[in-house]
Amino acid sequence: MQTPNLNSADKKQLDNLFEALQTARNTFLGYPVSKDFDYSELNAFFQFPVNNLGDPFEQGTYRVQTHEMEREVIAFFAKLFRANPKDFWGYVTNGGSESNLYGLYLARELYPKAMVYYSESTHYSVRKNLHLLNVPSIVIKSQPNGEMDYEDFENTVRMNRHKPVIVLSTFGTTMKEAKDDVAKIKGILRNLAIQDHYIHCDAALAGTFGPFMEPRLPFDFMDGADSISISGHKFIGSPIPTGVLIAKRSNRDRIAKGISYIGSFDTTITGSRNGHSPLFLWYALKRLGIEGLKARYQHSLAIAEYCEAQLKAIGIDAWRNPNAITVVLPKTSKAIKDKWQLATEGDIAHVICMPNVTKAQIDEFICDLQNCSEPITDDEFAYDFSLS
Ligand SMILES: *Cc1c(COP(=O)(O)O)cnc(C)c1O
Repeated sequence: MQTPNLNSADKKQLDNLFEALQTARNTFLGYPVSKDFDYSELNAFFQFPVNNLGDPFEQGTYRVQTHEMEREVIAFFAKLFRANPKDFWGYVTNGGSESNLYGLYLARELYPKAMVYYSESTHYSVRKNLHLLNVPSIVIKSQPNGEMDYEDFENTVRMNRHKPVIVLSTFGTTMKEAKDDVAKIKGILRNLAIQDHYIHCDAALAGTFGPFMEPRLPFDFMDGADSISISGHKFIGSPIPTGVLIAKRSNRDRIAKGISYIGSFDTTITGSRNGHSPLFLWYALKRLGIEGLKARYQHSLAIAEYCEAQLKAIGIDAWRNPNAITVVLPKTSKAIKDKWQLATEGDIAHVICMPNVTKAQIDEFICDLQNCSEPITDDEFAYDFSLS
């Protein structure tokens, strides 16, 4: 069927949008989104109505799908997060929020009478997820660095110890990139002799580089997590928001059975699912590999250390959590906030040194903070994303 072309006004609007997006992309430091990707080799795949509906591990009828790549992505992260090689499952979601919704859904199906515990630094989407699932929950205090207050956690659970426990722990909180210690949480539950428990780790921000931290901080399956979420468009980068959920196959089977009783193996939250995202993730992981991800993290860490030091050098009270690529600073002027798109909450703002952030950008940012006219551009830290 022949479709008419855009008229000139519409074309102009499209051109304007292109320019606006280009400008906005070039100056942001405040959101955890990598922009140094190149998926042009996959352009030809946009001609297909790709749809990954259904469970990626089940044979479906619709064949314009990328389930094979999706399974490889799941297997990659299952291994990275030290899942039992015989007991993992997952799927590529629309982002960390959907991954968290799934983790909590799985937990609630296993323990319908449970109480959910999460800290006050938890991502804003979690409250909404709990509301959707209609499960009771208690907010636990955070320490000043953003990490869960384990004493408050222990005391609160003790008061409700007759109920199964679901913990939503965070590995990389939104503002301060604090990491809740899954091993410590597990230890507290063991001490209190709480047998029925489930830990979902929201690693949307920091899960992809968590395994490369030295020293390692406990967050994965071996440390005690039952499911883990990550966002794909953050550290890896993607033109479309995307995420991954990894869970234990044995748990998923328990709920899949329940659903097959009503005639379906519909194990994902949405019906139709984006089939291009798994392809982007597969492509990025194939090109980067473990070594590439590690190099990206080391670059980010070096830039974050540099950023923190430069801020301190001009008298700004900046700090970072251990191993974090997020630099926390007092909130800035509106002009700076707007130009660099710095997410701000209360009195603090942050710079997130995603792999695309360069030393030159930090220099320009510091220069803006000092109101000088010429940024220094000696970019020895520039990261080469040529990958191969
Ligand atoms: C980004 C983020 C989310 C939400 O992920 P989306 O991919 O934006 O849906 C959840 N939790 C944390 C800690 C995050 O950083």
